[in-house]
Amino acid sequence: MEGELIELKDGVLRFLLSGTTPEFANSIRRTILQGIPIMAVNEIEVTANDAVVSDEILAHRLGQLPIRTSDGYLLPSECDCREGRCSNCSVTFDVSEEGPKVVRAKDLKSSDPEAIFVQEEAPIVRLEEGQKIELTAIARLGFGKEHANWQPAIASYKYMPVINIDQEARDDWTKCIDACPEDILKVENGKLEAIDVKECTLCEACTEACPDAIEVKGDSTKFIFRIESTGSLTPEEAVNKALEVMRKKCKDFSEQIERFE
Ligand SMILES: [Zn+2]
Repeated sequence: MEGELIELKDGVLRFLLSGTTPEFANSIRRTILQGIPIMAVNEIEVTANDAVVSDEILAHRLGQLPIRTSDGYLLPSECDCREGRCSNCSVTFDVSEEGPKVVRAKDLKSSDPEAIFVQEEAPIVRLEEGQKIELTAIARLGFGKEHANWQPAIASYKYMPVINIDQEARDDWTKCIDACPEDILKVENGKLEAIDVKECTLCEACTEACPDAIEVKGDSTKFIFRIESTGSLTPEEAVNKALEVMRKKCKDFSEQIERFE
């Protein structure tokens, strides 16, 4: 199995994973989406809210804001406090503001200086003259399989495209070239070539336009991954943590098997 970096910029990681199976690639994708614990607000305690936005909508809004924390927090289910309210398993964010003002993520004071909202300028609610808001938001670790607020990234992959071209089939390639929405077909030295095969989306528009000359397939041993992080983890951290989770599951299972004997 081999990994090759294609691109890493603006919180998006693209890499090629070769020499494995769709099942393994899918395990990585699903673990990133559902199986990595990250922090998100999942409860708010409202003391005052004169804004036009209801408490429920505020809770949804806060829950959707990605939070970056240091490692070391416990899942509420693993913490001795049993309530998900101590400093080992939760972070609290307090806010008390009066209008006129747009309350932003940075106005919420965190109980842990290392636990912060990734988008500090994200607006939470607009307060008009005389309106007040006072609340405590509680963030805890959770998994994407419970709620999308705990999903650290969008993870997807496609098979590596394979484009076979019969150079003898045509003299004029204009129709085939124009059909490609990604603009990756080009004539070089009288031959039709795909300039960047990785950018092919396997849409098959070219084979529809030129069925006599072009065949597009996906290589089911090579996968082009695209991981777009929400900011709570970097995309590299998301992949590494997914692999850690998978490794731990295998180890736990292996230990159980040893006990069979
Ligand atoms: Zn606790």
